[in-house]
Amino acid sequence: MVKSPASFATAPWPVVGHEWAIRLLQRSLASSTRGPRHAYLFLGSPQVGKSTLARAFAQALLCTDPLQRPCGTCRACRLVEKGGHPDFHLIQPTDRNGAVDRQNGLLRVEQAGEIIHDAILHPVEGQYKVFLIQDMHQANDSFSNKLLKTLEEPPGYVVLCLTAHDRNSLLPTIVSRCQVLELRPVDGPSIEQALVDRWHTSPEDATLWARLSHGRLGWAVSRLTSSEKGAERRTQIAELRHLAHARAVERLQFSQKLAAGRNDEVLFPLLALWVSWWRDVLLVQSGCADSCSNVDLNDALQDDACAFDAEEVRAFLHTLSRIEGYLRHTVNTGLALDVLLLQLPSPR
Ligand SMILES: [Zn+2]
Repeated sequence: MVKSPASFATAPWPVVGHEWAIRLLQRSLASSTRGPRHAYLFLGSPQVGKSTLARAFAQALLCTDPLQRPCGTCRACRLVEKGGHPDFHLIQPTDRNGAVDRQNGLLRVEQAGEIIHDAILHPVEGQYKVFLIQDMHQANDSFSNKLLKTLEEPPGYVVLCLTAHDRNSLLPTIVSRCQVLELRPVDGPSIEQALVDRWHTSPEDATLWARLSHGRLGWAVSRLTSSEKGAERRTQIAELRHLAHARAVERLQFSQKLAAGRNDEVLFPLLALWVSWWRDVLLVQSGCADSCSNVDLNDALQDDACAFDAEEVRAFLHTLSRIEGYLRHTVNTGLALDVLLLQLPSPR
């Protein structure tokens, strides 16, 4: 049965924000002439909601409710959510032994071979067969080249959903074969509301994590649900504030420790936290305390706003941004971090 576009337009999706992208996907679902495209590429910063949206789209494609897709409650919707639908395939980066490793793993050529093999077989239950390939920026060239074969002449029932941080890390021939959806950060109030409504967070915590998340709901939820990560943030801010009062020799010891065990999963979030702190200090100094992110540490922010010179704080924020860019493209971590630590503002 072909459904009218109107029946999809009112269906709620289990996604916070990204309304324009939902509308675009709904339109492609409802198009009775073309139907969905063969491939979609969801771009955006980590944990902004790419996979959540792609999974909701997979639910909409496979849902069996006659009026509202995705309904969220039919067998197909529930199976896609749990990853158990026979026509829904999730492909993630793995380590050498085949264990999922989304941080440091790769999408490997054997996995592309499996996709090609699976794509030939008709769907078991639904009208479509959906492949969600996460983290395409971690695909090696042989994976990408092999996947291109599927993208060139896919069977009509195959829909590929790819996620990646940005398009520059992908082969242009892959990008050009996809409908690209570039997800922007979700607005703070929507994240705050979702944390209260869906994760039953206290309003104070919701404000704090929504502001620190920079529009990434997944990031906020991962912090909220891990008390360890919440405590870690306070420790890291205390450490930063201590370093700002420390002598050069102690700052350099810290920089060397950070450089010696360089782990980008630790380093870049730490630098982002430092940015949030000094930005807040500057906001307090400018009389805009209401806009601060670290709302639970107001007293400490007030103290630092008095203790440090605003020009020095501003200059350090510039240095942080410059060094962060440099660290993303260099192996000389030690030198970059030494410079950064030595330029930390000192109390006046
Ligand atoms: Zn359903």
